[in-house]
Amino acid sequence: MGNASDADIVVIGSGFGGLTAAALAARAGARVLVLERHTRPGGCAGDFALGGFWFPAGATVVTGLEPGGILRQVFDVLEVDVEARPLDPSIVFHLPDRVVPYTASHETWARLFAREFPGAPAGYRRFWRWVRLVGGEVYRIGAALPSFPLERPADIRRSLRAVSPSLVLAAPWLFATVGRVKQLLGAEGDPAADALIDALLLDATGATAAGCSAVQGAIALDLYRRGCQWVDGGTGALAMKLVRAIRASGGTVTFGNGAARLRQEGGRWSVRLDDGSIVTALAVVANVPPGGLDLLLGRPPRLPSAGSAWGAFVLHLGIDAAALEPLHPFHQVVADAGDLETAGNNCLVSIYPGRGDRANRWSISVSTHVRPEAFAVPPAEARRLRCRLEASLLAAVRRVVPDVDRRILLLRSATPATYQRFTGRPGGFVGGLRQVPSVVALRAPGRRAGRGLVLAGDHTFPGQGTVGTALSGINAARDVLEYLDMEAPL
Ligand SMILES: Cc1cc2nc3c(=O)[nH]c(=O)nc-3n(C[C@H](O)[C@H](O)[C@H](O)COP(=O)(O)OP(=O)(O)OC[C@H]3O[C@@H](n4cnc5c(N)ncnc54)[C@H](O)[C@@H]3O)c2cc1C
Repeated sequence: MGNASDADIVVIGSGFGGLTAAALAARAGARVLVLERHTRPGGCAGDFALGGFWFPAGATVVTGLEPGGILRQVFDVLEVDVEARPLDPSIVFHLPDRVVPYTASHETWARLFAREFPGAPAGYRRFWRWVRLVGGEVYRIGAALPSFPLERPADIRRSLRAVSPSLVLAAPWLFATVGRVKQLLGAEGDPAADALIDALLLDATGATAAGCSAVQGAIALDLYRRGCQWVDGGTGALAMKLVRAIRASGGTVTFGNGAARLRQEGGRWSVRLDDGSIVTALAVVANVPPGGLDLLLGRPPRLPSAGSAWGAFVLHLGIDAAALEPLHPFHQVVADAGDLETAGNNCLVSIYPGRGDRANRWSISVSTHVRPEAFAVPPAEARRLRCRLEASLLAAVRRVVPDVDRRILLLRSATPATYQRFTGRPGGFVGGLRQVPSVVALRAPGRRAGRGLVLAGDHTFPGQGTVGTALSGINAARDVLEYLDMEAPL
């Protein structure tokens, strides 16, 4: 870009929402400048190195790279090759009294479920059939790249592609919860089966069956089956591919100098950077939560209302894996089936073997949901909480690697404050809003914040995850490109 102040589009933040928007806009021929405050791309789905180990910053499970998947559509249109290996099972559940692999094939899963949960009422079989049917339909709708909520004619035009007679499968469930569906189908009465369903829903949507939107729940439970992939280098490697794609299309991506203030002046956006310099642009994609946009506009930040969003606590371990047998990369460990929402009771253990001459140096990251306000206590109390959670998550790792204690070479943990600091998310809230019926699909929060100013990221439709934020980025790119009278590639 000859003159940075002449960017067509400035993208603030290089999370998956921002990178997708930037890559598509650059591909369309717009002059794009991405401003990232951190030194690496990807935000909550980025990565970092510490003490000779590589770690994922947050996201580990990759979905959406199967043929026709949303991320695959993005990479295809950018003509970027991505090698991904389907995982089957996608994830292994460790319930307090049994270990259950979540298999890709519906038929195998039906047999396995009957074997592992022999006392479960027949309603659970009906529930899994419902998941397949409705989840499949919501998947089809998502893959048509709809644009919700329907605020403008453009949203209706883009979303019409998702309309088909089979829509009747999903429509009746739009305002229901998964809990209501289970009740209607008689899928109740087996606490271990409920814990498995709740654990997966909590991880993918931030809500257990009782509160989780039925349509979001169906796609979450189904997507783990149809689209879980292993990618070398994880989501951080995908973020880097998007950075390269932006640059290959003539865009610019800068690191270590964030956007400090945003103002509209004479039909253009003026962005003051951390170092005091100014860039101007015709349009802006802000890949930040609404509170982050408030800060940019000089307003007090809005935080999610109590209980509507989560923070994360993550334990990172670097281990000596000498003589350790190969392990499945993803394990959902439930310590207390009766209380999944208490931090440490339900967590995801992700395992990354080392490569090359570091083959014996493995990284293990364990994440659990936590209320950010739990850490808003005097420092000594916060330290005690951190120690307690580290101990709980270490106990979860022992379910997968029994002798992990003697293998540990490095141990660090991340709290909501860590996410606030490294991903710029006010209050340390991550993963967007809990996917309850009042915030999904047609009722999702809007993303248009001003003329030529659009939000992208997991606080906008369709919500959390790399796939979800990629769709938010697709819609942000469509919006700003239309604003500039240019054609979006997707
Ligand atoms: C612990 C954890 C585990 C998760 N596990 C999974 C998983 O397994 N699979 C999955 O799909 N998803 C997972 N997620 C969710 C997923 O990571 C997020 O929903 C998604 O990555 C958020 O993307 P985003 O576009 O909202 O941007 P963010 O990730 O929030 O990134 C925003 C970027 O903008 C930058 N930024 C902020 N303010 C400024 C500014 N003023 N100027 C410049 N730059 C700025 C930040 O530094 C950051 O890089 C997980 C999240 C966490 C925290």
